[in-house]
Amino acid sequence: MAAVTIKDVKTILTQPAGSRLIIVKLITSEPGLYGVGCATFTQRFHAVHTAIEKHLKPFLIGRDVDRIEETWQMLMVNGYWRNGPVLNNAISGIDQALWDIKGKRANMPVYQLLGGKCREAAACYSHAGGDTIEAAIDSLRELMDQGYHYLRLGCGGYGGKPAQLYKPDGAPEGDYFDRKHYMRVQLKLFERTRAEVGDEIELCHDIHERLQPIEAVGFAKDMEQFKLFFLEDPLAPEDLEWFNNIRQQCATPIAMGELFNHPREWQPLIEGRLIDFIRMHVSQMGGITPARHVAAFANMYGIRTAWHGPGDTSPVGHAANLHLDLWAPNFGIQEWCRFPEHVYEIFPGLPVVRKGYMYPNDSPGLGIDVDEKLAAKYPCEDEIIKWTQCRLPDGTPVRP
Ligand code: MG
Repeated sequence: MAAVTIKDVKTILTQPAGSRLIIVKLITSEPGLYGVGCATFTQRFHAVHTAIEKHLKPFLIGRDVDRIEETWQMLMVNGYWRNGPVLNNAISGIDQALWDIKGKRANMPVYQLLGGKCREAAACYSHAGGDTIEAAIDSLRELMDQGYHYLRLGCGGYGGKPAQLYKPDGAPEGDYFDRKHYMRVQLKLFERTRAEVGDEIELCHDIHERLQPIEAVGFAKDMEQFKLFFLEDPLAPEDLEWFNNIRQQCATPIAMGELFNHPREWQPLIEGRLIDFIRMHVSQMGGITPARHVAAFANMYGIRTAWHGPGDTSPVGHAANLHLDLWAPNFGIQEWCRFPEHVYEIFPGLPVVRKGYMYPNDSPGLGIDVDEKLAAKYPCEDEIIKWTQCRLPDGTPVRP
């Protein structure tokens, strides 16, 4: 039987709901057979686009679509310099599209190829927040009414937004926050939430790596009383050694890793049992192929999955997350960003969430497609990103 090969590679750019999304479409030698994958790196989308069109496409044309693992391994080393977010996202687009094609060829959803379902749907959480404690609790109640049993809660956006800042004259523009103010407000928010809403609802919180390591240790201890489902990104990837300190001082469950680039970055945290959830951004890591390796490794240590699922993961990426969720024996939770209705029209097959559970549609492959004509109605716009221009009160630039 002649191999089915890659005939063409298309890169689809679209911005239907805030984030610039990148979808790869692999056209095969078999008429009508194609696959889609998420390559979204919203902040540097031109770089990913160029990497796919100018570097990966010439390499891929004519290759056997069935050799997913071999293709992934070769794409990772073919450029010699490796492990960066631009190339990883580009490779992810190819990788997910190959899994989509393999599923279509087998006439099975991708979760069947991974080993089959461990569950009928993936429990997911969404984000509840507001500028004030009252608004954040209102947002939480609204989502609870929609059936969510897990919710991430925060007040004032990442890092909090104090009404008054003690800034020097001439301080430049920026997304200012104050670490002490942030911690005080979040602790009050969780105290009031537990008092008013009760203990049944599972709550998460995202520090977004905005604290000094020693502050994060103290904050994790202070939050322990609220019995979180997890505390997200308490530390930056640059400060991994500090996870030991958090572990020694409290039993707050920890989720980490949306910024990681390579599977080996997980190794010390998993082997040391220093975290509880791997929070991988699947496209940032290079796609389904590395994600399943890391998930299997984490399973050996009793650590669960919580794939990153923000608005700058494309609907195709969310579908990929869901297939991993349904399969992984160590599934923990899935983040869900609640796309608006018109995004469902652009991406037929986008997973549906009912009462806090995300359901597959059981179509072959990833079960999702992209309407290129509709997608083209929302072209990507260039901008200089403001929310990542974070500063401390004295103007010092810090990670977002
Ligand atoms: Mg996060």
